[in-house]
Order: sequence, then structure tokens, then C-alpha cells
Amino acid sequence: MDATAPKLIDPFARAIEYLRVSVTDRCDLRCVYCMAEHMTFLPKKELLTLEELDRLCSIFISLGVKKLRITGGEPLVRREVMTFFRSIGRHLDTGALEELTLTSNGTLLRRHAEALAAAGVKRINVSLDTLDAAKFAEVTRWGRLGQVLDGLDAAADAGLRIKINCVALKGFNDVEVHQIVEWCGARGYDLTFIEVMPMGEIGEGDAARLDQYWSVKDLRAELETRWRLEDIPFRTGGPARYVRNEDTGMKIGFITPLTHNFCESCNRVRLTCTGELFMCLGQEDRADLRTPLRDGSSDEEVADAIRAAIARKPKGHDFDYSRQSVAGRMSRHMSHTGG
Ligand code: SAM
Ligand code: SF4
Repeated sequence: MDATAPKLIDPFARAIEYLRVSVTDRCDLRCVYCMAEHMTFLPKKELLTLEELDRLCSIFISLGVKKLRITGGEPLVRREVMTFFRSIGRHLDTGALEELTLTSNGTLLRRHAEALAAAGVKRINVSLDTLDAAKFAEVTRWGRLGQVLDGLDAAADAGLRIKINCVALKGFNDVEVHQIVEWCGARGYDLTFIEVMPMGEIGEGDAARLDQYWSVKDLRAELETRWRLEDIPFRTGGPARYVRNEDTGMKIGFITPLTHNFCESCNRVRLTCTGELFMCLGQEDRADLRTPLRDGSSDEEVADAIRAAIARKPKGHDFDYSRQSVAGRMSRHMSHTGG
């Protein structure tokens, strides 16, 4: 495709430069806020093949996407996913892509860390809500903490920078947030706390999740009883706001998708593993890109479908827990859209 092809600018003059790609809906864990214990996963034919993912991502890159985050489900459980990483890494070599990264639960990092680094991945996000093995098994339903810690060591040895994503859950990890901050600080990991979001039907019912909701505002107040936190202007175009911990020197992010509007700076869209493009995490509108990929359309025609979708990107979303009902709740799982 023509390198001078028009870049993706949405109706609110936001340049779309960040694509999150879910490469699978499957996962080897079942975090209680993310998945039901018994999940029915998509049949293989529904999923984009690795070749289709590569083609589509390459078209996005030709349209100005500079940052790709690979997610899932758990991206590292997708068979041959390293082939995809190696292949898409070619766009880093040309400079068209500035960053290739992933969000992972860390269970398979021991196996893949070296290959990820070799493909050009420099930083990874690893989700970890607790440092207590029994609680880890509880929140993931069967995960082994030691496996994730070992994966983190492998990632650090491979030279990957690590950021921990921690979902803040009242009555669960509220008692260990200081320890988590300290642990990340000692290892040089960045850390982002995430408010639990209303996503999909996950078995326990909305009440259970509302009960666990802990605003990062309150969490920050708790952290400030022990650490000196300074606001810093660092932004990624996403929902996170950052502080520097003056005591450890580390950056701590807070993601408050429910209580604050971060949409004005939104630079991202999300592609599901079935080729649906979601222009906003909080809206149901989507564009089907799998059909043009499979019906013989040219790259230019696929690019037109992407441009038409971006032209529909809404101004913002409408989640709101504050009304004590789960308003604006989305029916799809985070593991489908790729959190
Ligand atoms: N499996 C990978 C992982 O766990 O990092 C990638 C996919 S996971 C869906 C991406 C992120 O979404 C994780 O950090 C996870 O904690 C977060 N997440 C999942 N469900 C969530 C929810 N209901 N509220 C807030 N964060 C959620
Ligand atoms: Fe799997 Fe990640 Fe969802 Fe946990 S949050 S169930 S690790 S996809």
C-alpha cells in the first residue's frame, strides 16, 4: 500500500495510532472478574488466522498505527503466536511501527520471553493482582503464582521492561497494596492499578463485583498514607494517570475508566480475535473486518473499511458505577475485546 495513504483521523480530530489486537479469546486462567469458570470458546474458523492478523495489522500500520499491543484472552496460549510476533516485528525494522508490546498473565513467559525480545518487544504488561499464592489461586481460579514469578524473572533476564497491572479489589488485595508497591519498586517494575470494570456476565452477578469495587481515588489515598506520590504529566493517550513514587522512584499508574472521562485524548481502537474492530471500549458499535479479509478484497479495500469505521468513532463512552447500577454495561467479555 501507498506509504502516503491518508492517516487515520477520527471525527473529533484524534489521530488513531494505537491498535490493541486480541489474538485469542482463550486463556489458561479464569480470573473471576474476567471469565466464567466454564467458558465456551470460539470455534477455530471464527478466529482470524495468524496470516490474516499479520495482513490486517500491516494495513493498520500503513495507515499510521505506530503502536501495537497484543492481548487476548492470553496471547501466549495461541498456537504459533511467536510466528506472528516475528513476522510483525519486521515493521519495527523499517521504523513504520514504533512499538510492539503485549499484555500477558505471565504464565508462559518462561517459554517465550527470549523469543519476544528477539522479535523486537521491549516492554510487556503482566497482570498480577496479589503476591499471596493462595489468593492468586483464588482470583485466577487455579493459577500458580510461582509460575508467573518465574516468568517475570525470565522476562527481566531477556531484557524486557515490565509493568505490572493490578486490578484493585476491595476486600481482596486492599491489604497488600503497600507490599505490591514495595515489591515492584525493588524490582524496577512499573505498576498500574486498574478499577474493576463492568464487563460481561461472569457468573457471580453484578452485586458481587460492585461490592469489590474500589475506586483508585480511595486506593491512592491509602497509598499516600505511606508513600510520597507526585503527579506527573506522563500520558499515553489512554485512561491511565500517573504519579511518581518519590520514595521508590517508580511510576505508578491509575486507570479510572469508570469515574473519569479520558476519551478526549483517546488514540486507540481494538481489534477482536474474530476481526471485529471496536472503535470505543464502552460502545457496542463495531466494524466487521473479517469479511473483507476473506472475500478477496484488496488491501486498499480493507483500508477503506477501516477508514469508514474510524469515521464512526464516537466521542466517548458511558460507564457509570456511581448510580449504583451497572449502567452502560457491556455485554461482551474483556477477554473478547482484549482489555
Ligand atoms: N490475559 C492477559 C492478562 O491477563 O494480562 C491479557 C488479557 S486481560 C483481559 C487484560 C487486562 O484486563 C488484565 O490486566 C486484566 O486484569 C484486565 N481485566 C480483565 N477483566 C477486567 C475487569 N472486569 N475490570 C478491570 N480489568 C479487567
Ligand atoms: Fe485470562 Fe487475562 Fe482474563 Fe485473567 S484477565 S482470565 S489471565 S484473559
